[in-house]
Amino acid sequence: MLDAEFFRRWMTATAASVDREADRLTALDSPIGDADHGSNLRRGFTAVRAALEKEDPGTPGAVLVLAGRQLISTVGGASGPLYGTLLRRTGKDLGDAAEVDETRFAEALRVGVDAVMQLGGAAPGDKTMIDALVPAVDALSAGFEAARSAAEQGAEATTPLQARKGRASYLGERSIGHQDPGATSAALLIAALIDAGAD
Ligand code: ADP
Ligand code: MG
Ligand code: MG
Repeated sequence: MLDAEFFRRWMTATAASVDREADRLTALDSPIGDADHGSNLRRGFTAVRAALEKEDPGTPGAVLVLAGRQLISTVGGASGPLYGTLLRRTGKDLGDAAEVDETRFAEALRVGVDAVMQLGGAAPGDKTMIDALVPAVDALSAGFEAARSAAEQGAEATTPLQARKGRASYLGERSIGHQDPGATSAALLIAALIDAGAD
């Protein structure tokens, strides 16, 4: 079963991973964006980490709702409201349960990913974070390792795509040949589930 501590570890592991990979995320956002994706997420997840320490939410749902709110309020870029919505809606769907099993978590994450698609209007194949998140949710019933490789493959598969949403879409065909920064960070978020489960 996954408790509030597990979800807190998921968020702190994501924060650590974003810290480590911030330069790479910003470098990916340079040719097809405005070179701020790493710094946007670093600011956001630093705020998430601080808020979790200060407020000490006691359920899985409350951890994710608080984290989502921090991302929405601290990240100026497109990715803040999108990741914020992902975590907030996933958390809301978990309600006030003290513990959830992996099947229940997978269902809730699906609700969160659907909310991101609704908010941003992106579908799979549009070269966004959705290209990592949808395969990850599809694979989650087979476990965290399966979800991680699905997300990583999804992120890598954005390289030959032409962007149809977000800043990269302004480049038209010139967006082809670059891996999407948001799909790359989404794969980090999913990979952090393994770190969270390891303790
Ligand atoms: P900004 O583009 O505002 O500078 P970021 O650089 O932080 O924001 O995030 C860019 C990432 O956000 C993109 O790589 C893409 O994955 C994701 N993104 C942008 N627009 C959308 C959208 N409409 N739907 C889903 N994801 C999106
Ligand atoms: Mg950017
Ligand atoms: Mg920006």
